[in-house]
Amino acid sequence: MKRVIFNWKMNGNKNLLNEMIHHYQKQGEKYGVSCSACLPSVYLTTGMDMNCSNVHIGAQDVFWLNSGAYTGSISAEMLKDVGVTLCLIGHSERRGRISGDVDPNILEANQDSSETVALKYHALLERSIEAIICVGETAEENRSGNTERVLEDQLASIIEVVVNNSVSKVTVAYEPVWAIGTGNTCSVEDAELRCAFINHLIKERVAKNQVQVEVLYGGSVSGSNVREYFAQKSIDGVLVGGASFKPEDVTVILEAASGCVVK
Ligand code: PEP
Repeated sequence: MKRVIFNWKMNGNKNLLNEMIHHYQKQGEKYGVSCSACLPSVYLTTGMDMNCSNVHIGAQDVFWLNSGAYTGSISAEMLKDVGVTLCLIGHSERRGRISGDVDPNILEANQDSSETVALKYHALLERSIEAIICVGETAEENRSGNTERVLEDQLASIIEVVVNNSVSKVTVAYEPVWAIGTGNTCSVEDAELRCAFINHLIKERVAKNQVQVEVLYGGSVSGSNVREYFAQKSIDGVLVGGASFKPEDVTVILEAASGCVVK
């Protein structure tokens, strides 16, 4: 079975939550799969209170300290307190690498660097909350042939945390910025290449390959292309944004996930 994580970003309301989480659950039961849904923080407990056993509720970001004068932030301790078991970190939209309507310059003060992502990772590890670490290059970085260098840079401080804490399993989502929410999907060949690169990079830097690496692909995944990504041997699952709210796409994605044997 391949892994499926739905990222709701800043979307939804109680009605949609009710409709979609039950849809995930129903399809999950039908195809014998589970999935995760990373919700806006105000809906985390609403999602968990729905008690849908095939749907793990996750957060979209976290701050690295436990408490203090950090208005608007949420700590790993708080996520643990309400029972959240996984959390995205380093999403390009949190790194200020956004291709939408917002001028990236006005996000600068609030954006993540690879160092803050590593601090967040460490905070989650300390609370035993699974981190889904997002990485990916911009269109410009891709065009200039710098994709692997960018991925290496984004992962360097993460690998340090893995080594220093003898982490046994890491999950990374490869999400090219130019493919997120644009409909411009990354070719399956390139996605496979990059996911394999991430897998080898982490294993090579951790002594004796003592780490299990799971790599997901994200970027305009839908019902019509998910099977091609799942067919790649280095792609262990998908991180899905826009299609998370389309019941037909969700059904195809979960059905496809159930038919896959993981390496
Ligand atoms: C995402 O938000 O991580 C994402 C991949 O979005 P989309 O599927 O809409 O490209």
